[in-house]
Amino acid sequence: MIRESSAIVKKIRELNVEDEVLKALGGVRGACEFKEVGFDRLTKAQKKLVLMANEAKEKAYNPYSKFYVGASLLTESNRMFPGCNIENASYGLANCAERTAIFKAVSEGFTLFKSLAIVTRGENFEVEEPTAPCGACRQVINEFSSLAGKDIEILLANTKMNKIVVTSIRELIPLSFGPSDLGIELSQYKR
Ligand SMILES: [Zn+2]
Repeated sequence: MIRESSAIVKKIRELNVEDEVLKALGGVRGACEFKEVGFDRLTKAQKKLVLMANEAKEKAYNPYSKFYVGASLLTESNRMFPGCNIENASYGLANCAERTAIFKAVSEGFTLFKSLAIVTRGENFEVEEPTAPCGACRQVINEFSSLAGKDIEILLANTKMNKIVVTSIRELIPLSFGPSDLGIELSQYKR
């Protein structure tokens, strides 16, 4: 993904219309280059969040995919909510770890979030490249970014904690559809 994005930017540069095109795309460079950091460079809260996601993945109810996903959510009030993937024999009813964590937090009275960490592994293999949230989860995270009126940080880590990508929901879902498109006023839901 990073390589592809760089290739697009390179191509735009070759076309010699860089500024014009990048401006039209709304700063594609910022949207495509993800920051990779070492575990040691994370803040204390980020480390805690990533480790909680790593632990949460072991709780996965995953008889079908055998894929373990853990997420942990940090609220504005510094509460942390872990979540795991929960599958179902009907397959389509599976719920992702990210949404489990978010729904847990909302049901406990918290709707303002700062950061979300995700860690995954396969049944018999470690994940080398950090796993990004699926489209459905991006849309759900985007809802709460709209509610808060600010971006939500997304931390993606592999199991060995030697590859960590720091990105944000605005980077992961540009030109998103959200409450403002419907002219909905959300302030009464800020908790
Ligand atoms: Zn998902």
